[in-house]
Amino acid sequence: MIISIANQKGGVGKTTTAINLAAAFALRGRRTLLIDLDPQANSTMSYVDMAMVEQSVYDAITDKNISFSDIIKTSSQPNLWVAPSRIALAKLEGKLVGELDSHFKLKDKLAAVMSDFDVVVIDCPPALGLLTVNALVASTHLLIPIQSSYFALEGTDDLLETIEKVRMRANPDLRILGVVITMHDKRTALARDIRAQIDKVFGSKVFKTVITKSVRLEESPAYKESIFKFAPDSSGATEYYRLCEEVMDRV
Ligand code: ATP
Ligand code: MG
Repeated sequence: MIISIANQKGGVGKTTTAINLAAAFALRGRRTLLIDLDPQANSTMSYVDMAMVEQSVYDAITDKNISFSDIIKTSSQPNLWVAPSRIALAKLEGKLVGELDSHFKLKDKLAAVMSDFDVVVIDCPPALGLLTVNALVASTHLLIPIQSSYFALEGTDDLLETIEKVRMRANPDLRILGVVITMHDKRTALARDIRAQIDKVFGSKVFKTVITKSVRLEESPAYKESIFKFAPDSSGATEYYRLCEEVMDRV
């Protein structure tokens, strides 16, 4: 199972969802690979010391002599490995321009290590460019985080259109696993309104588990730990664990 975490809107909780959902799978004993496909490298920094990252997903994708197994790092969490990003990834689009298989690079390269993992989680950048398309082409499933905010649904049409194009041209099996509402504030009427709006558009695709606002979720990356190690009793830990359960029920 390969799950892309994607939404071209910035700051909606993609990385927070990717790092903690991956950790939840690992906690449940699944050999899990977290692939950081964002040049900002926030997922990488959440588990790995950047000073230790010499080669990244960029090198694995562009250099035929470098495989994913050469770049993968261990994390503080058993069963969880990270394929790190570096700012060099921002150059990928330019590097691959004109190559006929530019959308299939990640899929092709990942194939060699798939037998080592039960679950792969891909953290996508906030754009619908070549990196996100590579993730969608390689994935079996897509999980869309939507921030509980007034502009929550802005841009989802473009995302759905991209998914449809990827399905038609490259990956007919790509399934929308679901939509997870993030940074929710249960106390406000606005948040309840937004929830109703999201339900109206995505219906049963919306996960029952909602990720509420939690300072602990913001803090854990600074300690290079998942929410389960950093604050096991926090709402964030409970919610991401439940989300993982729901994901497993759906696949
Ligand atoms: P980008 O588009 O830049 O990659 P993103 O979609 O990956 O952003 P995150 O980095 O996960 O979003 O989250 C944006 C900010 O919101 C971060 O500072 C993160 O710590 C914070 N955040 C995410 N989820 C929560 C939450 N449930 N409660 C409080 N803060 C959160
Ligand atoms: Mg991010």
